[in-house]
Amino acid sequence: MSNWRENVRKVVPYVPGEQPNKPGMIKLNTNENPYPPAPGVKRVLDEFQADSLRLYPDPAVTDLVECLADYYGVGKDQVFVGVGSDDVLAMAFMTFFNSEKPILFPDISYSFYSVWAEEFKIPYKRPALDENFKLVKEDYYQENGGVIFPNPNAPTAIYEPLETIEDILQHNKDVVVIVDEAYIDFGGQSALPLIEKYENLLVVQTFSKSRSMAGMRIGFAIGNPELIKYLNDVKYSFNSYTMNRTAICCGVEAVRDDTYFKETTAKIIETREWAKEELTKLGFTFPESQANFIFAAHESVPAKEIFAALREANIYVRYFNAPRISNYLRITIGTRGEMEKLFEFLRTYLNK
Ligand code: PMP
Repeated sequence: MSNWRENVRKVVPYVPGEQPNKPGMIKLNTNENPYPPAPGVKRVLDEFQADSLRLYPDPAVTDLVECLADYYGVGKDQVFVGVGSDDVLAMAFMTFFNSEKPILFPDISYSFYSVWAEEFKIPYKRPALDENFKLVKEDYYQENGGVIFPNPNAPTAIYEPLETIEDILQHNKDVVVIVDEAYIDFGGQSALPLIEKYENLLVVQTFSKSRSMAGMRIGFAIGNPELIKYLNDVKYSFNSYTMNRTAICCGVEAVRDDTYFKETTAKIIETREWAKEELTKLGFTFPESQANFIFAAHESVPAKEIFAALREANIYVRYFNAPRISNYLRITIGTRGEMEKLFEFLRTYLNK
């Protein structure tokens, strides 16, 4: 037997939610937006000059960086763009978590964090959320090599107020603190205003949820120019041309249409608030959601059984067979019509 396997980087990969493509299915399993991207995005694609594809895209992603900088009122040297926030986060892990000390993130949070930590050989600790799935800020007072958490959290959908974020920043001035705001546009207040005060704060967001562009793969980070420079150095040491030409043009159009963005996010929030009432009537409980999904447990029927029954009915939600959360379903907010079908099925299934 030869020994080449000994030197292989062996990782346990992240398992994304399934992407079925069945006629008539209701897909509420990967927190996608049920509405199409802004109309300008379609126009850009319709008018896109395929000939331009012979040229490399702009490695600095200038158009999109400038557009985001304008929108969020920051300098263009404060914006980094990547292929979805997964790419941005992976780069950030590699760039900023480079210590012998463990990085900290909650025991229940985005399950990709431990995958990147393992892959890049970053030590990590996962302080437990309390019994209501709330962040325990004191757990982040200990010595560490960096801090990351989603806000609102995934999969719980719980939003932590900015005072909690600021308290964690106050206690972590010697490391980089990353706030993963994939779901912030559905009701929470972004930590972006804090970047002026904390040079070690990196805020990461995505076009996949509130901007209806999961399929285009655009994410971004905003922070102090020095953080952004370090991120870019690592990116350029990997792959200079991460953002393709179509993604850059479509991203710009999505940001420009603020009216459409506000309308669709408001519709999702409205549907979510109504869905909370419907779920309660059906005997579900859930932590208060400020995201485009609800993390719900039923009073008598195990989540695993409901998940399987829904799947049979061509309705897809997400189920995590993991400690502390194995009796919960993560239900993405779809259109009002999709949610009505979900509740119709659940009423019959639960005899309510
Ligand atoms: N962060 C969190 C908390 C998420 O739930 C997701 C979606 N899976 C991401 C980041 C990554 O999203 P994307 O790569 O599509 O931007």
